[in-house]
Amino acid sequence: MKPKRDLSDKLWQEALRHIPGGVNSPVRAFRGVGGTPFFTQRAKGSRLWDVDGNEYIDYVCSWGPMILGHAHPKVVRAVQEAARDGTSFGTPNPREIRLAQLVCEAFPSIQKVRFVSSGTEATMSAIRLARGFTKRDKILKFEGCYHGHADALLVKAGSGAATFDVPDSAGVPADFARNTLTLPLNDLAAIDRVNWSEIACAIIEPIPANMGLIPLRIEFLKKLRQVTQNNGALLLFDEVISGFRVAKGGAQELYGLQADLTTLGKIIGGGLPAGAFGGRADVMDLLAPDGPVYQAGTLSGNPLAMAAGIATLEELFGLSGVGTDRRAVRDLNDSARPAVAPYQRLERLTASLCDEWRKMVPGQHARIGSLFCTFFTDCEVVDYATAKTSDTKRYAKFFHAMLDRGVYLAPSQFEVGFLSLAHTEEDVETTLRAASEAVRLI
Ligand code: PMP
Repeated sequence: MKPKRDLSDKLWQEALRHIPGGVNSPVRAFRGVGGTPFFTQRAKGSRLWDVDGNEYIDYVCSWGPMILGHAHPKVVRAVQEAARDGTSFGTPNPREIRLAQLVCEAFPSIQKVRFVSSGTEATMSAIRLARGFTKRDKILKFEGCYHGHADALLVKAGSGAATFDVPDSAGVPADFARNTLTLPLNDLAAIDRVNWSEIACAIIEPIPANMGLIPLRIEFLKKLRQVTQNNGALLLFDEVISGFRVAKGGAQELYGLQADLTTLGKIIGGGLPAGAFGGRADVMDLLAPDGPVYQAGTLSGNPLAMAAGIATLEELFGLSGVGTDRRAVRDLNDSARPAVAPYQRLERLTASLCDEWRKMVPGQHARIGSLFCTFFTDCEVVDYATAKTSDTKRYAKFFHAMLDRGVYLAPSQFEVGFLSLAHTEEDVETTLRAASEAVRLI
């Protein structure tokens, strides 16, 4: 039986009157699957509840940040404590140091890090820095990788752009896009066709997760590392999704590679607006106020976002929570203690879901850690072009059949599923039961 969503439907009409397309980020509008979205009243652990009281097992997890699950008590407490002391200062605050220390310790390639307020801001700023450092204008990106909505990066981008089939956005001057070269993923020969002496940086999602999930060939990433290094170009890993998600040190730890610059977002803010970019000290030192590359932010390093990020990473890394800012600075060396248990748990639980799922849902399946995806196609998916062979209408039917059974998957074929540490074996069983029914309906 279809759940009632009367109140959501009413709110949707109201939202359409005041907000373009009814949403503040396009993919939320369900255009990739049809129908209209539900409005969330609250969230806890692995669950969302909509305003009509329907309950969903959530495999979107706010598009990645909620790796501990929703409203984790330590994160909520950290934000409450921070808020009591003021929500923004516009001066340095001790929490920035603690979070920077956690980031640098997790990512050996990040010697210095600067905080911003979103993944978009992180990639935009990192690219300006790469251009300033190399004194070159051109950048290279890969088809279907999404790096936020800065002008230079909305060229053959994934995510919402993939859903809408508009690889380039209106409003991006052709002159800007001309400095962005694009290559297909996983194509080693294509790397040799680039004039690397004019490239400031190659930006890539080392785990492409914005056109569904497409694991890269390790030789491809290694070649990119080598070629950039040999030619004075920087390698920029966009780990906004993969950072702290697939391992403590992201894809770089998983694959044993080091980038020159790394962008982070999502998990780093624990569900509050935060992003970061960091890397080699000789590059980062070019940033204002030390260097000539300008970058700034009124809310950068915001104490609430820092508190949520610290609580999230400390929990994820198995470190004890820090109560006060003074202790935060004193405990800087705490993070040397290794902790793998949370990642093992995520790996095991997601494997238990995906191993059964792939037996019952026909298509091409991918999983890396707690990220998973099924392409509704018979064609082997290795890049953007093959990802686009997916039957999006079939995905849409599957999505709605799952939603009606209380399982919220990404409302687009070209996104990934996320598990959190709050998901349980029972959630997995319920999800698999729903999937076995849903496949019969498509
Ligand atoms: N880079 C990647 C890899 C992303 O997945 C995203 C967002 N999904 C971004 C950048 C942009 O981040 P934000 O939406 O926080 O601006």
